[in-house]
Amino acid sequence: MEDSVVNNVVNGCCHVNLKEKNLGLVLKGPEDRKLALEEVPVREPKDHEVLIRMKNVGICGSDVHYVTHGRIGHFVVEADMILGHEGAGIIAQVGKNVKGLKVGDKVAVEPGVPCRSCEHCIEGNYNLCPDVAFCATPPYDGDLRVYFTYDAKMCYKLPAHVSLEEGALLEPLAVGVHACSRAGVGIGDRVLITGAGPIGCMAVVVAKAAGASEIIVTDISASRLEFIKSLGATNTINVVGRTGEDVAEQVKILMDGNHPNKSIECSGAESGLHTCVMATRPGGTIVVVGMGAPVQKIALAHATIAEQSILGSFRYGPTDYARALNLVASGAVKVKPLVTHRFKLEESEKAFELAKTGGEGVVKIMIEV
Ligand SMILES: [Zn+2]
Ligand SMILES: [Zn+2]
Repeated sequence: MEDSVVNNVVNGCCHVNLKEKNLGLVLKGPEDRKLALEEVPVREPKDHEVLIRMKNVGICGSDVHYVTHGRIGHFVVEADMILGHEGAGIIAQVGKNVKGLKVGDKVAVEPGVPCRSCEHCIEGNYNLCPDVAFCATPPYDGDLRVYFTYDAKMCYKLPAHVSLEEGALLEPLAVGVHACSRAGVGIGDRVLITGAGPIGCMAVVVAKAAGASEIIVTDISASRLEFIKSLGATNTINVVGRTGEDVAEQVKILMDGNHPNKSIECSGAESGLHTCVMATRPGGTIVVVGMGAPVQKIALAHATIAEQSILGSFRYGPTDYARALNLVASGAVKVKPLVTHRFKLEESEKAFELAKTGGEGVVKIMIEV
């Protein structure tokens, strides 16, 4: 964890009380991997940084994964780590070189600071930066805490009518923006989305805003499918006990004999990707967002003969967060309905228990800090 401690942070704002205890939700590691609400240091902002009084932080599947498994791929929790990367808060202090932000501003926090000098950063793909310091990805701490010191350039000022909760939801929304951009979803597109979890939901609202005319979503949960219809899915298919071929056939029927030209895999399940390959039209595009088993089988011969383009999609790059904010601020996308459960910071452990078990009716769990 960050070690430089500031005891006397400048107090100059009516919105925040800097005398508050800086509690953070810490994943203890690696031996016990328990959650603990602990007082963590407040780091004084450097010239280019701001101090944020965090207000809303969403729980993400990746946070839960670190809690239950202690790792995601090669990211291994080797020391105590503060969780959280879907956050928004109020500026409490600004470094002297910060422009465009002032004390009291509401901001959404894009949770990765890229190195800005590697070839990926220079090419405009900072989500591929090998040195990105990403919140709650070992060894970096997250923002599920009362005070968070952060790079001002990765903070997005929210207009007055956009709530801090919506600000926190820009993170998963930006994932949807990036995925739909990778797929090139646009006017009149027929889109298949496999997986109706939070990212599937975000892909639906973005695809709809981008002009997709048909959006079919598959999942194994009837309640999730019911919910995603309210977000704009035109049809849903419950895939329990069904093969990809079978589901692909039903997609075609529901699309009046047409295949989707864009498919977005958001489930992480091998069967989801298989369904995308079987359903997508020749020459179509499949974007894989869901993270599942590291090695998965696909019908490669089918994909090759159909000249499908299969693309990965990881987090979000330059402009994605800003575009996510524009979608919410303009009213083109409504993200608030995704929040099904709200907990206080003090109830974080309870919130994670619910997130771990999932269950009917759980989409996005929000912590109010
Ligand atoms: Zn997330
Ligand atoms: Zn870089």
